[in-house]
Amino acid sequence: MSDSNITVRVFKYRLYPRKSQERNLFHVLTSARNLYNMALAERKHAYQVEGRTLKLADLEQLAKRYRATFPYAQQMFSQTAQSVVKQVDLAYQAFFRRLKAGQTPGYPRFKSHTRFNSFEFKQYGTGAKIDGRRLKLYGIGRVPIRWHRPVEGTIKTVRIIRKAGRWYACFACEVPECKPLEPTGRLVGLDMGVSALLTTSEGEKIANPNYYRAAQVKLRVLQRRLSRAKRGSNKRRKALRTVQRQQEHVANQRRDFLHKLSTGLVQSFDGIALEQLCVRNMVRNHHLSKSILDSAWSIFKDMLTYKAESAGRQLVFVNPAYTSKTCSNCGQMFEGMTLATRWVSCACGLSLDRDHNAAINILAKAGRDTSANVNVERSEAHALFGSPRL
Ligand SMILES: [Zn+2]
Repeated sequence: MSDSNITVRVFKYRLYPRKSQERNLFHVLTSARNLYNMALAERKHAYQVEGRTLKLADLEQLAKRYRATFPYAQQMFSQTAQSVVKQVDLAYQAFFRRLKAGQTPGYPRFKSHTRFNSFEFKQYGTGAKIDGRRLKLYGIGRVPIRWHRPVEGTIKTVRIIRKAGRWYACFACEVPECKPLEPTGRLVGLDMGVSALLTTSEGEKIANPNYYRAAQVKLRVLQRRLSRAKRGSNKRRKALRTVQRQQEHVANQRRDFLHKLSTGLVQSFDGIALEQLCVRNMVRNHHLSKSILDSAWSIFKDMLTYKAESAGRQLVFVNPAYTSKTCSNCGQMFEGMTLATRWVSCACGLSLDRDHNAAINILAKAGRDTSANVNVERSEAHALFGSPRL
């Protein structure tokens, strides 16, 4: 099978280490963090003092020396140490790339124990291996793991993560890409909104899930408890843990919701059109920001993009200008529209929900944009949609 038919997917499982195993996990995590900071310091020092840039190979030598010099570091697998210095190298590469692009990136930072929360076994089978029902890890032991779903494909790497006081194993696997779905002959335009998460050109509305608001109320209570707890106290540590768990819970709920939504859309439609929105700009608008962050547009867009791609569906992003303010029937502009206008009526007889009207315009634009602004009827959008613009 050629490379193009293979894609990498990550499967995450919770680990249930015994007391001694958890001590080992912490031990390796600390060794990895020490090495990370050491490699960063070394690179910085070599440049500042000697004007020399340390290459990845130099850092790998450092990792080797580190394990050889300190007996406690030998509990960390040699390839894990290599991954750690690779991480430092990547941090620098990203820094220079952004610098070159004219941005003002932050210099790679030293990591405190709150910011360093994972380490990797970069070659599945050496250092990390599934052993019966458990996961056998070098220097740690045979750790109980909850297989809540089967692992698919070929496991390439294993990353151990500590999050909100829990341990997880993430398997990066190579899986064959799904076959393209059968065409459905249907196209859709999506208007992403504030009052409803999205409205389709067929008039269907999908509401923002309100469990998130409820969860936020709970989160605020927990955060208040945290801010009242005395610094350095046991109570504060527990309160922080509870806040982190609640945040994770909310994020999981949202991901789950967006996964189902994007899968459903990709299955139902051959082509999906939506607005090219700049989330970064919109979040600045205070009134809109909460809902926008809530519905996590950029996550949704990413999910839709990769799912459409692997299913052979077409995704078109259109310029959002005037999609709300134009009559989808006759093209007339509406005067004096505000965000409060929820219903639009036109002299041509159109009377429609504001977002439904916008979604129809977005679908029409997806057709129009492909043919260099030739004005097309909505019925013709279908044929143009299929043209290879993307
Ligand atoms: Zn009209």
